[in-house]
Amino acid sequence: MAATAQSFDVLVVGSGASGLAAAVSAERAGARVALATKGSLQANNSSKAQGGIQASFGADDSPDQHGQDIWRSSHETADMRLVEVLTGDARSAIHWLEELGVEFTKENGGYRLARCGGSTAKRLLQVGDRTGHAITKQLREAWEAGSGTSFLNAPLHELAELDGLWRARVGNLTVDAGTVVLAAGGRCYAVAEERGELSTNHPNATGEVTRIALDLGAEARDLDALQYHPNGGAWPPNMQGYSIPETTRAYGAVLVNADGEEFTDSLGPRDAVSQAIFDEVEKGKGVTTPDGRPAVYLDTTRISEDDAEISLPYMLRRYRGAGIDPLKDKILTYPVLHYQNGGLVIDTDAETTLEGVYACGEIAGGTHGRNRMMGNSLLECVVFGRRAGRAAKEKASA
Ligand SMILES: Cc1cc2nc3c(=O)[nH]c(=O)nc-3n(C[C@H](O)[C@H](O)[C@H](O)COP(=O)(O)OP(=O)(O)OC[C@H]3O[C@@H](n4cnc5c(N)ncnc54)[C@H](O)[C@@H]3O)c2cc1C
Repeated sequence: MAATAQSFDVLVVGSGASGLAAAVSAERAGARVALATKGSLQANNSSKAQGGIQASFGADDSPDQHGQDIWRSSHETADMRLVEVLTGDARSAIHWLEELGVEFTKENGGYRLARCGGSTAKRLLQVGDRTGHAITKQLREAWEAGSGTSFLNAPLHELAELDGLWRARVGNLTVDAGTVVLAAGGRCYAVAEERGELSTNHPNATGEVTRIALDLGAEARDLDALQYHPNGGAWPPNMQGYSIPETTRAYGAVLVNADGEEFTDSLGPRDAVSQAIFDEVEKGKGVTTPDGRPAVYLDTTRISEDDAEISLPYMLRRYRGAGIDPLKDKILTYPVLHYQNGGLVIDTDAETTLEGVYACGEIAGGTHGRNRMMGNSLLECVVFGRRAGRAAKEKASA
């Protein structure tokens, strides 16, 4: 590694929602923070997230009920210590985002809450259908307004412990830091490329930072459990790989086969809905897209115009721009690779099994077990990003 190193208290790797939440939190706690990211600050999966973020604000809901839904959806594989933190910190995470300027969609004096797959209550807060864009924009502005240093186009490619510090190579730079927060996301883009499949992910979702941590001896769990989003766009070509928001189904859309029959609970857990689609196509009851791909229909004509205009404006614009009106015609859909459920093992402060190395967001495992519910990833980014940032600052100054 090159000899001249720049020194910081905390180095954050990645500029998605989790990395930005960690960087802002560490910086506001008084740390000298550097954030190194592979491309621009905006290049990440978090900005693409549409559907929303879960938090139990409903009168018939509670953090415990949210936690039980996660336990069930994960097929009893989630780490309940992490789930308790996730659901317990959810409301304060939402209020923190609001303080940063995120304006969640409201109705009747409260949040407009939707029910997402696997949930027993309406719990999904939204900013139209560009929730991730809104959250990352405000986090980015908060980060840029602080005194932290950004290293752009600076992918992490080496990390080593050196005299009680962590020395990192990011791009051509050498950075020393007391603690490191790994927030580099998942690997579904790379896996889809290898398998010749479609993915919803940003091209930077390639997973090499997980590999660096594993080579240093970090423990991981459920790395084999990759999630398919049940509703990838299958047609027209410019919508292939688009993640049709799950809120379409929350607002009444249902999956139907070639004969127009409903074949599954459209609001079941993600893995169950994806499997039902695979099975229906396997039985010969699917349809084929004009370019020969398997698909079923998502009957979006059942969504009311009001719900669509408030909660799905971006989806409507995208499809109408491609010549299809989802409120008049069913759309073609098929599951696409979407999310890395597992990842690096962390504790409730997001510290990995390597002392002084933290992990938050999609790169971490346990919170969702082997099957994530929609809306819990953005929440995980904010809840564990904040915890990682604060704990990394504390340890760096100890
Ligand atoms: C299309 C889409 C829709 C989604 N919708 C929702 C939703 O509605 N609700 C929800 O909760 N979740 C949703 N998700 C999932 C969620 O958005 C992501 O899982 C989450 O935002 C991941 O955040 P992150 O910060 O962990 O990673 P990312 O946002 O992917 O950020 C990772 C960052 O690390 C950087 N990076 C990668 N490798 C390196 C390296 N070697 N060195 C330095 N930097 C590196 C990347 O450039 C990027 O900046 C959606 C995901 C997609 C793709």
